[in-house]
Amino acid sequence: MSDQVVTRFAPSPTGYLHIGGARTALFNWLYAQHTRGKMLLRIEDTDRERSTEAATAAIIDGLTWLGLTWEGEAVSQFQRAARHREVAEELVRLGKAYYAYETPAELDAMREAARAQGLPPRYNGYWRDRDASEAPKGLSGAIRIKVPRDGETVVDDLVQGEVRFPNKDLDDFIILRSDGVPTYMHAVVVDDHDMGVTHIIRGDDHLTNAARQTAIYRAMNWQVPKMAHIPLIHGADGAKLSKRHGALGVEAYRAMGYLPEALLNYLARLGWSHGDDEVMSIEQMVSWFDIVDVNKGAARFDFAKLEALNGVH
Ligand code: GLU
Repeated sequence: MSDQVVTRFAPSPTGYLHIGGARTALFNWLYAQHTRGKMLLRIEDTDRERSTEAATAAIIDGLTWLGLTWEGEAVSQFQRAARHREVAEELVRLGKAYYAYETPAELDAMREAARAQGLPPRYNGYWRDRDASEAPKGLSGAIRIKVPRDGETVVDDLVQGEVRFPNKDLDDFIILRSDGVPTYMHAVVVDDHDMGVTHIIRGDDHLTNAARQTAIYRAMNWQVPKMAHIPLIHGADGAKLSKRHGALGVEAYRAMGYLPEALLNYLARLGWSHGDDEVMSIEQMVSWFDIVDVNKGAARFDFAKLEALNGVH
């Protein structure tokens, strides 16, 4: 088996390419370039209501302008729905997942009951050990994965270190909805596996998902890729970055006359530094970057610094 590094950028096309997404793409690209591996692009357009063609085009434009190249065609996650279903059904055959038939109202009541007892709103596992012959006639079930009841799931993260999740907190989550649509949690695992991804580099808002996704890898007996969850970007006031901090989409910086090199220098410093403040060439970034050097603490967006970098080239 080749030990080439394969990273991926996997945006959901619900808006333009924002600073956080561009930084995730940059770190994936730098790591792939640094290791002479490759970066893939997957458009996570499974959610048909929120995904738009215009957002896909804006993301592709933004990446292209920044020079963050990917190998091969961009993969549409939605186009792979049949494969996601196949794996979900395979997990049922293997006894690692099961059909569950609760209605939305029943699920709400279940969550309420848990809350009333001071427990986290979790699925109670009603259908976990029931025989398929008990399934209500004429209803199609959702597929839920059997997460081990005891023990813990350890995510050994290249940035965060070992993060431990008690399995009892993960519950038997849905991998395929009763209308046959795969959930985000499941589609990501199947796609990363099939695309041969070796390193998942993404925002640390996905850390809990990493534990749930690990349960799917284990159930399929697939190798879990290496993970690197990079701290989210915050504004100068410490709150999660938003427009009110002056952060704009990549497209807006481009329209204002920023050079890609200036923006890339700025993005690279959001969570990673090479020890000096000089402007780096792209070649220097590639040769110096390593994912294990990314900081664990939240990165701060500072508009003045970005402005100071513009025009240096
Ligand atoms: N599509 C997800 C997002 O845009 C990222 C999924 C992932 O990187 O695993 O937040």
